[in-house]
Amino acid sequence: MAKEKTMPKVDYELCMACGICIMACPYSCMEPDYVPPDDEYKKPRPQLAYPDYCIGCGICSAACPVDVIEMVKAEGLEAILTREHEARKISAVEKEKQRKEAAEAFLKAMMEQAAQAQA
Ligand code: SF4
Ligand code: SF4
Repeated sequence: MAKEKTMPKVDYELCMACGICIMACPYSCMEPDYVPPDDEYKKPRPQLAYPDYCIGCGICSAACPVDVIEMVKAEGLEAILTREHEARKISAVEKEKQRKEAAEAFLKAMMEQAAQAQA
């Protein structure tokens, strides 16, 4: 029987964000994820960005100096990881849009104030 595929699952609460797992992966499957300003962990997260290329070798898990990467059964995990990654990307885009709108509103208010002062 073929050995069941496993994939890395990081405990983000204990992760030190050192990036060693990202550098250790021979297939460059992991990437640091975007950190939104209101992120509960306030640090970049190593994310399995390319689960299709992960062969479940466990090198990332072995390389982690604080042993916070568990190799877990891959079944269903790819879908979850991809969904989480996409959700964070969408919220990052939405946050950038809000930031831009707030900056534009601020600029508009400043220009209106300046125009009133000159009148
Ligand atoms: S298990 Fe192997 S292939 Fe998969 S992310 Fe870790 S180091 Fe890369
Ligand atoms: S090697 Fe371990 S502590 Fe470092 S970023 Fe990866 S999971 Fe976090």
